[in-house]
Amino acid sequence: MSGEEKAGVAVIGGGASGMLCAALVSGSGIKVTLFEKNEKLGKKLFITGKGRCNLTNTADLNGFQDNMVTNPKFLYSALVSFGSAETIRYFEEELKLRTKTERGGRVFPESDHACDVTDALRRGMKRGGTEICFNSQVKSLLLEGDRVKGIKLSGGKKFFADAVVISTGGLSYPSTGSTGDGYRFAREAGLNVTECVPSLVPFLVSGENPRRLQGLSLKNIGIKIYDGDKKLYEDFGELLFTHFGVSGPVILSASAKIPQKAFEKPLSLYIDLKPALDRKTLEERLKRDFSESAGKHFRNALSGLLPRTFIPVMVDESAIDADKPCGNITKQEREHLASLFKRFPFTITGKRGFDEAVITKGGVDVRELNPKTMEAKKVRGLYFIGEVIDVDALTGGFNLQIAWSSAHAAADAIIRTLKKTEE
Ligand SMILES: Cc1cc2nc3c(=O)[nH]c(=O)nc-3n(C[C@H](O)[C@H](O)[C@H](O)COP(=O)(O)OP(=O)(O)OC[C@H]3O[C@@H](n4cnc5c(N)ncnc54)[C@H](O)[C@@H]3O)c2cc1C
Repeated sequence: MSGEEKAGVAVIGGGASGMLCAALVSGSGIKVTLFEKNEKLGKKLFITGKGRCNLTNTADLNGFQDNMVTNPKFLYSALVSFGSAETIRYFEEELKLRTKTERGGRVFPESDHACDVTDALRRGMKRGGTEICFNSQVKSLLLEGDRVKGIKLSGGKKFFADAVVISTGGLSYPSTGSTGDGYRFAREAGLNVTECVPSLVPFLVSGENPRRLQGLSLKNIGIKIYDGDKKLYEDFGELLFTHFGVSGPVILSASAKIPQKAFEKPLSLYIDLKPALDRKTLEERLKRDFSESAGKHFRNALSGLLPRTFIPVMVDESAIDADKPCGNITKQEREHLASLFKRFPFTITGKRGFDEAVITKGGVDVRELNPKTMEAKKVRGLYFIGEVIDVDALTGGFNLQIAWSSAHAAADAIIRTLKKTEE
């Protein structure tokens, strides 16, 4: 391409939402040009679901609403039109990608390869004749009055377009190409963008204990998070210790639900290591264990109750002499130990950054967009889809469904609008 050209519909960003939108619009016979700043498509898609891509979830509409964290209502009509059932059907029937459903309704490609999802979308775009421009970073929008007229690349080249779709993603994992350009485009067009913060992200924890426990995964534990006396969050599930703090499903969900403001000061995290036992039963169990091994050193008496790596940490925190014979442990010491099992304390000092966040919370203010079409209310022909919008969800395939549903809503509206002007 050279000089000033016509792009037809310009899609900015060849990630999940951009590729689907391009495939759908070009599939209707409309000319589409997709601009991707990387040398290839779907860099983030490639790492989703630990390389397996959890592309959606079979939950019903209520289940989806429960798993959406920010602005669930905004996506309602897009999800009704193109929800997980329609998404699976489209991938299976139109793009010939076989899928399978696992625990918790999580849907993956049957091959377990995320790259097969990108290949399927590439096939869809190819069939429609989408022109793909790689190494093409869009720098700005061409705006005229209340209309978008096209885009300008960082090299200065301009493309005129009948519609512009912004599918540039958020700010998380910027190495994949999502560096927040879409927010800049939105502001240039006069749209409000809400504060963007990392979400579905691990927590930083003070002290030496996380490092000592690094690599340990605790299944079936309870967590409670407090700001002083105020309980902010409670959950049950799996937690992972890392060299800097805590991660794993319960922590990622907590990061999505606890308001950003709460992280301005340290928070208390309590882990219930024995959620199936109430405090009294646990105390009785400790009493029995200690009397059965009265001659054993305390440090050797916890293996039936704790994973190996946790034992020295528990011993230190209990302040009971590690070499004390179990028979000599006092009632008071036993009670303190039981309280640690039920409320083992850590101090959260913050969240990790965008480099490690699965998603961005915040983005283009949903009040700026028509929820049926994803078109900006103030700027005709300008559409926002995927993570760039201020909508986010928990893990389980829900975030990619946001990408698919919003892409479909925009594609549908673009096709209807452009076909009508053709007539
Ligand atoms: C490690 C990890 C694992 C994840 N796993 C899952 C999962 O299993 N299931 C799930 O539902 N969600 C998952 N997600 C979230 C999911 O990947 C995102 O929600 C989804 O990719 C968002 O799609 P998108 O199209 O909005 O943006 P992206 O997929 O991020 O695509 C944006 C594209 O735009 C391009 N771009 C940006 N700016 C410009 C510009 N100026 N010019 C041209 N191109 C530009 C980028 O290079 C990129 O290719 C995961 C995220 C991460 C980080």
